[in-house]
Amino acid sequence: PFFKEYLPKDIREFPSFEAKLNANENPYGPSPKALEAFKNAASGGNRYAWKELFQLVDKIADFEGVSAKNIMMGPGSSDLLEKTAMVLFMNGGNVVSADPAYMSLIRVAESVGATWKPVPLKKDWSHDLKAMEAAVDSDTKLVYICNPNNPTGTITDHEEMVDFCSRVSEKAPVFVDEAYLAFMGEGLKKSMVSLINEGKNVIIARTFSKIHGMAGLRVGYIVGQESTLGQLQKITRGGMGISYPSVFAAMAAMDDTSFLDSSRELNVKCREYVYSSLDSMGFDYVKSHTSFMIFPIEMAGKDFLEKMTDLKVGVRAFHFMDKDWCRVSMGTMDEMKLFTDAISKVLV
Ligand code: PLP
Repeated sequence: PFFKEYLPKDIREFPSFEAKLNANENPYGPSPKALEAFKNAASGGNRYAWKELFQLVDKIADFEGVSAKNIMMGPGSSDLLEKTAMVLFMNGGNVVSADPAYMSLIRVAESVGATWKPVPLKKDWSHDLKAMEAAVDSDTKLVYICNPNNPTGTITDHEEMVDFCSRVSEKAPVFVDEAYLAFMGEGLKKSMVSLINEGKNVIIARTFSKIHGMAGLRVGYIVGQESTLGQLQKITRGGMGISYPSVFAAMAAMDDTSFLDSSRELNVKCREYVYSSLDSMGFDYVKSHTSFMIFPIEMAGKDFLEKMTDLKVGVRAFHFMDKDWCRVSMGTMDEMKLFTDAISKVLV
């Protein structure tokens, strides 16, 4: 009954795509400044990046308006989603999240013995916060909310999120994955990080993989209460997996605001182009607030994936809400043209 993904035949085929629109990467990154910093730092790769990692943590703490003690680093946010799941669920318990949601934390929680309590998104694609609150019980070790959500690209109202996180975090920690928040017009203004200084037990995840275009350089972090991060770091280590040059690339990327602005703008242009192409072909779609979008497909997801792969266009296919869906990432405009061209051949 739950969210299911149709998997490609062979993941090793991914790099041969002419339009690689299957992993929500940013086609423009890394920013020129990040790239230069990475290259200049490469020769320092014989050293561990302890001191430099603290510099990055201080810079991030400053950016987020929290103390350095509220930051835990990781080689991408995946590492931190997974570590959180392993530590919090090693003695079982349940995780409450939306269905569909981004599954990485949930799958790890399940594999160490947790039960997933999925709560369907509402008709307007927002989180059903009332139902999620009702699903929290004495066995709930974590509530996971991806906002904006993946794979849907949709958002849940900011005020409602603040209200929910403030109240529910008294019963169980609330993990808010904000991987795509920076793509929104107001940037990170709608973050839940402000709840940290109010003492709320929320954990916010951020990544350099998306708007910064550094998916392959592997830098991410979580912001949380010192005691919660202490619980995680007693068992696992934070930034140990981040490479020396990536630390420098991340610091430079944070300063390159013009790159961030242009990524955001180009992303919107691509989305508008795909909306209008799908409109002209008569397809429904779900309006997105992120660097990807979904639309229902009148074809079995598996066949669809194979046909798109044959045309060298990489996308993802899912099943939820009784339908099969395509999720397409925003690439360059040329890639989006290859995508809409492929769609016109496969689905029309
Ligand atoms: N969270 C969400 C919602 C994502 O979509 C992704 C990647 O697609 C991640 C986390 C993990 O990204 P990374 O490990 O590159 O930071």
